[in-house]
Amino acid sequence: MRIVILGPPGSGKGTRARIIGDMYSVPVITTGDMLREVTTQGTRLGIVAKDYMDRGELVPDDIVNHIVAERLRKPDLEKGFILDGYPRSVAQADALDKILEEAGLKLDHVMVVDIKDETIISRLSLRRSCPKCGEIYHLESKPPKRNKTCDKCGFKLIQRSDDKEDVVRHRLVVYREKTQPLIDRYQKRGLIRVVDGDRPMDAIPAELRRLLG
Ligand code: AMP
Repeated sequence: MRIVILGPPGSGKGTRARIIGDMYSVPVITTGDMLREVTTQGTRLGIVAKDYMDRGELVPDDIVNHIVAERLRKPDLEKGFILDGYPRSVAQADALDKILEEAGLKLDHVMVVDIKDETIISRLSLRRSCPKCGEIYHLESKPPKRNKTCDKCGFKLIQRSDDKEDVVRHRLVVYREKTQPLIDRYQKRGLIRVVDGDRPMDAIPAELRRLLG
């Protein structure tokens, strides 16, 4: 099962990616997490990536394409993968096509999470995430059991600096400009499956199962 998940920031892409990954026992490749990891390493690449991310801009295509190409070469992807947050631009979609073509593989689905901008803005202001294992919480709809620490690994939760309102608004503009055009591209290939980003947590697995078969 090879799936791409597209959607604006805060639409619940990551949550769905994890559920589908568990459902089909395939790895989830989350470029946001991979890039955040790079930013903690103190390398020149990390400093450059952090600068783009803090401003809510896309990290340059050549950097992200390289990171993803390396990851897709690893041997744990025989059963497939879920790409969460990649591709996000035409150049990235071209790079992905090339990698898959060379490997003789095809995508099965491109999932688009549909949600209103205002819902995203209120949602992201309450989002907290675990910098260690990547688990995502929401202070109202999915609060951590113990105050401000990750249920899974006990690490202290943080609010990402790019979840502040002005940066979120800019990330939405970037999504409309750079990523949304990909929907048309994949629609022409019959791959698009739209899901409702506003569903309550407990209704998500059933919706995904219905959609993916
Ligand atoms: P996310 O966690 O998916 O919302 O991504 C957080 C930030 O990481 C984005 O705002 C971008 O700066 C960067 N990023 C993640 N994925 C990509 C990508 N495929 N291409 C470029 N930048 C990315």
